[in-house]
Amino acid sequence: MSKKLLANSKALLQRAQAVIPGGVNSPVRAFKSVGGDPIFFKKGAGAYICDVDDNAYIDYVASWGPLILGHNNPKVIAAIQDAVNEGLTFGAPTPIEVTLAETITKLMPSIEMVRMTSSGTEATMSALRLARGYTGKSKILKFDSCYHGHSDALLVKAGSGLLTLGIAACAGVTDSIAQNTLVAAYNDLSACQQIFEQHGADIAAIIVEPIAANNNVILPAPGFLQGLRDLCDHYQAVLIFDEVITGFRVALGGAQALYDIPADLTCLGKIIGGGMPVGAFGGRREIMQQLAPLGPVYQAGTLSGNPVAMTAGFATLQELQKSGVYEQLQQSTATLLTNLKDCANNYKIDMDVRHVGSLFGITFLDDPEQKLFKRWFHAMLDNGVYLAPSAFEAGFVSTMHDSNVLQKTTEAFDRSLAML
Ligand SMILES: *Cc1c(COP(=O)(O)O)cnc(C)c1O
Repeated sequence: MSKKLLANSKALLQRAQAVIPGGVNSPVRAFKSVGGDPIFFKKGAGAYICDVDDNAYIDYVASWGPLILGHNNPKVIAAIQDAVNEGLTFGAPTPIEVTLAETITKLMPSIEMVRMTSSGTEATMSALRLARGYTGKSKILKFDSCYHGHSDALLVKAGSGLLTLGIAACAGVTDSIAQNTLVAAYNDLSACQQIFEQHGADIAAIIVEPIAANNNVILPAPGFLQGLRDLCDHYQAVLIFDEVITGFRVALGGAQALYDIPADLTCLGKIIGGGMPVGAFGGRREIMQQLAPLGPVYQAGTLSGNPVAMTAGFATLQELQKSGVYEQLQQSTATLLTNLKDCANNYKIDMDVRHVGSLFGITFLDDPEQKLFKRWFHAMLDNGVYLAPSAFEAGFVSTMHDSNVLQKTTEAFDRSLAML
């Protein structure tokens, strides 16, 4: 395979860098940790995306998770087009937000009431405020390298782009805010117990990714999530599952259905927006009723519950409720990873793969500085496969990654390893 021609991407990047910091509107899109320049895209269809120089790639980024049905699903697009014809926003209630809320509460039984936001960041930030308002306590416990969006309190020791760029403490987050964020290592239940023994009376909430997807997919150790549930029950803290990635990704009911552990509050985003900007948080009625206008915890949004976005989310969830969808996603991802692992074995490359449903992580072992990862990432690009430009980000398989696409991916993988 030859290097791709990327002249139009390069020209756009030059323009972008003059007016947008780093040329990107979210740092994970930059190629800073892998070297080279970000690629600009113009369209997607199914499992494929096409850049501005007309190169096609099989996409495993899926816009960082939302596109579980692949790009431009015809049902989702048709539904959005109908919605657009009725108007873009009213700043007043619309029927579709009720329908989506009903669907979410039906599919995730721990969510009795839900409030829509425009991003996952708003969902986690608001869930924390609600937990603090409900309990009257000020501290929160989070986990090292989990990512919960970019609100101040949650940028302490965060995953995703902060891990990729090596930002341990984000500039601009004041000490007074960081002091209220306690941090434990993921899966270290005894550390959590110690923290609660010391600070239990002040801890409003534990916030956790039930699968650590923003640190290249780390599964919860047996008993870890149940242990957090028990701690919250014992100390009357609110257990917040951040299911912005895992919700409707690893199962219809999210990770909480998979592990059978109910959260008090759940944060959602990504898939429930079907590719539009959406987040949501919801949970026990008693807690949710503390939100304004019913209660004293204020939370708002000019475009929250936007009808076009709600329509995209609802159409996506409709497709996901059809029988066999999650079985197919699980099967495709298992097949893909088995094939990649076999291929790596052939080249005597030590590689760890893991997945929950269609959420997967690949790690080259003995690659502490990600030197191999960087070369592999670029080799995969040259061979027509688009992966997250970071060794710490998860990959996503969609319903459009059929056996042909998976086969092509394996061939590209084989050629990439041969190039290394
Ligand atoms: C993506 C993500 C967020 C942030 O959502 P945005 O819509 O990017 O603000 C929060 N939590 C988790 C677990 C995420 O993966």
